[in-house]
Amino acid sequence: MKDVTNYKSINKLLLKWFNINKRLFPWRVDRSPYKTWLSEIILQQTRVEQGLPYYERFIKAFPNIQLLANAQEQEILKLWQGLGYYSRARNLHFTAKLLVEKHLGTFPSSFEELIKLKGIGNYTAAAILSINFDKPYAVLDGNVYRVLSRVFNESMPINEKGAEKYYQHLADQLLDKKSPGDFNEAMMELGASICIPKKPQCEVCPINKFCLAYFMGTQQELPKKINKNIISNRTINYLFIHSDKGLFLKFRAERDIWKGLYDFPEIIDDKTGKNSMANNQFSNFPIISSINHKLTHRNLIINFHEISINTAKSKNILKVLNLENIEFIDFKNLKEYPLPKPIEIFLEEYLHNTKM
Ligand code: SF4
Repeated sequence: MKDVTNYKSINKLLLKWFNINKRLFPWRVDRSPYKTWLSEIILQQTRVEQGLPYYERFIKAFPNIQLLANAQEQEILKLWQGLGYYSRARNLHFTAKLLVEKHLGTFPSSFEELIKLKGIGNYTAAAILSINFDKPYAVLDGNVYRVLSRVFNESMPINEKGAEKYYQHLADQLLDKKSPGDFNEAMMELGASICIPKKPQCEVCPINKFCLAYFMGTQQELPKKINKNIISNRTINYLFIHSDKGLFLKFRAERDIWKGLYDFPEIIDDKTGKNSMANNQFSNFPIISSINHKLTHRNLIINFHEISINTAKSKNILKVLNLENIEFIDFKNLKEYPLPKPIEIFLEEYLHNTKM
């Protein structure tokens, strides 16, 4: 076991390993702050295998920030469809427009200016500054938390109050000031490929002789986390109103996670105003599908009630429906509309089964 505070030796081994083993992602070719920003926003809360095709689609549609700024929000949300956390896409658009209007489409090169931008926090600012401006800012993401807590055998829970400051200090100490961008990427890559949550590959880890957790045999127990997640259930009853030609979609104007996307009208309780099955004239229409959709703090149980407007029973349905923000969409044009993941899954399955 070598001295864990021998930062220079750790950095040297880590950078050497990274140079040989780094994966060639498109944002690592012809680097630019725009590419770093785009990739980092897409990869937040997202595995690289899932995020990579999204990045490729975005960079193809918007090869530079001016084109992203000039795009319609609906176009951006459509490309984002399926990635979740849609506020990231809306912030991306907002910030692109602001940078084009106020900074001629360039990124500020100071931490203070960067974190003023919507959707850019400490992590993304540090990534842009180190990777594109060679400035000594250490990134701290889930992978880096894990590597740090293990290398230093640190038992402070990573979601405890004050943990971010504490781990940021460790990351700053360890940062290679001469190659901050490569060092940050090396830490993240080590956490993603070798120092993984379950069964870390310690035998082949380039810095194992400096790792306290490996020495103590505690690597599987780290990082520690306090269980704060209280998951609640919510049931949504959607009205899938359609003919042979198309269906009714509702533009979601509410300020929530699906703002700007299209879903279906919901069955709302006549008395309480809440989404409910009780006391409602629509509740007799059959449920043709149910989907369980997990969000970070919520488990959504989504029922789809079918109303075919070809049937006599449903003839008057549109008269009693609140038609605000609702439009009839031809099945052929469905591809142009950004949809939340569960709606996309439901419609794909429905269209497949009915061979539309
Ligand atoms: S030795 Fe194991 S626990 Fe330590 S940094 Fe390497 S992979 Fe992680």
